[in-house]
Order: sequence, then C-alpha cells, then structure tokens
Amino acid sequence: MHIPIKFCSSCGGNITLLIPEGDNRDRHVCDDCSTIHYQNPRIIAGTLPVYEGKVLLCRRAIEPRVGFWTLPAGFMENGETTQQAAQRETWEEAEAKIDIDGLYTLYDLPHISQVYMFYRGTVVDGKFGVGQESLESQLFSEDEIPWAELAFPTIGLTLKRYFNDRKTGIFETHIETIQGFKRKIEP
Ligand SMILES: [Zn+2]
Repeated sequence: MHIPIKFCSSCGGNITLLIPEGDNRDRHVCDDCSTIHYQNPRIIAGTLPVYEGKVLLCRRAIEPRVGFWTLPAGFMENGETTQQAAQRETWEEAEAKIDIDGLYTLYDLPHISQVYMFYRGTVVDGKFGVGQESLESQLFSEDEIPWAELAFPTIGLTLKRYFNDRKTGIFETHIETIQGFKRKIEP
C-alpha cells in the first residue's frame, strides 16, 4: 500500500518505485539523489475524557465527517509522546485539560496504515470549550450518547468498551484490529 509520490522532496527529481538493495519491499526512490522516501503507518492519539460519569465529545467542524461526534483525537506530531499528542488534541478540539488515567484502547487499522490510541482521562475541573476544529462540545451520559452520529468506528468501539468496563470498574487496555472499512478514516 503506497501513497503515490511523483517528485523527490529533497531534490525535485523523479521517483521510481523499486526494492532497494538489502530491503524486501517496494519503496519510493529518487532517480537523482537516491533518497528513499519511506512510508509508514500514522498514529492518531486521543482521549476518552470523563467528568462526573459523563464523556466529553466534540462535533466535527472539519472534513471528513463534518457534523459527526468524535472523541478528541488527531495525528501525532514529531517530537511529542503519544500521551502529549492526546492531551494536545483534547485541548485543541475541546479546550479541556486532561489528567491521564491510562492507555485504554489501541486499534490497528492495517488496511489504511493507521493506529489509533485512546487514553482514558479526567477533565480537570470539568472545564471545556469549543476548539477551532469543533462545532460544539458536550458531556454525555451513557444514555445520551449519539450512537448513530459518531464519526468513526474507533469512537463507537471505545465508548462501548468504556460503558461495559464501567460496570466492573476494571479498565484494562484493549488492543484490537479493525479490518476492511473501505472509507478512508482520518481524524
Ligand atoms: Zn532526490
């Protein structure tokens, strides 16, 4: 699986897809400067923010899935930890500071080369707002969750896990693989 690359980002040269010496799979290699442009999975980090038994969701203001509800999450940036990425995204989308309670769900989506990681956390002082990428933010009790209007499969799965685990009070880390959604999923 490759995202097509036409030109080298180092020198502007043409790119050929080939297996470099000592490698075992196709890579994008520059014809001129021989730079190998590796493509690897992307990590999406987010939180499951809880306050007084309710879960904080945001309604998306950006594509894809505008108008649908999501847990705050987004692509990890260089130079940060997954936990920092999750907290940053929660601040950017919901203007909420989160005390992290632990890694909660990890989803491998090999068909689109993405990994989702959600940390369980507590909304500090119950304060939140509406970030630039959101239309609104709201705390939902279990029976208020807009199940039919969730943005991505990983959101619904994480919420279902949470409400199920809450019955026992035991929140182990859930690691699952999601296969075969044709729709491209991006936060
Ligand atoms: Zn080049």
